[in-house]
Amino acid sequence: MAIEIRQFPCLSDNYGYLVRDLDDGAVAAIDTPDAAAINEALSASGWRLTHIFNTHWHPDHAGGNLALKAQWGCRIIGPRGEAAKIPGLDDAVGEGDKVMLGQSRALVRETPGHTLGHIIFHFPDDGAAFVGDTIFALGCGRLFEGTPLEMWTSLSKIAAMAPATKLYCAHEYTQANARFALTVDPANEKLKRRAEAIAQARARGEPTVPSTLAEELATNPFLRAADAGVLAAVGLSSGDPVAAFAEIRRRKDNFR
Ligand code: ZN
Ligand code: FE
Repeated sequence: MAIEIRQFPCLSDNYGYLVRDLDDGAVAAIDTPDAAAINEALSASGWRLTHIFNTHWHPDHAGGNLALKAQWGCRIIGPRGEAAKIPGLDDAVGEGDKVMLGQSRALVRETPGHTLGHIIFHFPDDGAAFVGDTIFALGCGRLFEGTPLEMWTSLSKIAAMAPATKLYCAHEYTQANARFALTVDPANEKLKRRAEAIAQARARGEPTVPSTLAEELATNPFLRAADAGVLAAVGLSSGDPVAAFAEIRRRKDNFR
């Protein structure tokens, strides 16, 4: 009923994650950005892969599925809304489904926006959520398939989790996200301090992921779309968070 997590870089800026249930040793890869890197992490830990949990169909998330399944015979669990696009899928899951990894329990939440079928895996008893490309440290996923309202609704599900929850996102985008965040939330002292800490961590070559939901609630502009200071900075006076979120996302898409 407790998990152990290994985190390692994959491709140019993805993170791979292995989650192991301490009771019976079941091991899940959260997404499969790079089968070779996942195999290296497995052999370094002496762990055997039993599951793959996919968040969405993008190749940097499901591209290693078939190679790993051929090697390990692992069971692949992924989003019902993208079942046809997830290589080797065994179990299609959706909102509210409970997925067991050994004795450990993950709850599935549907978080459309980045893709329409995107799901996240929340281990409430362990205070951990694997959020794929829905929320990033100081950012959120691009709206390739969904609408601002869908993504805002998805982010709101994450915002309602316990504040101490650790958010394991799929990319190290934090330093660039911080530069943008400061442009739409310039008076936020916590954000300024966090941006400095992020720059120092990256200069030392350290990951900035996971963060906690509490940190994101205080500093992530995409969660703070209803904040008066953020609204003013993007030139909106109304308190409509979806309109503000859409404007912040539009600005981020054009930010260099
Ligand atoms: Zn993606
Ligand atoms: Fe991705």
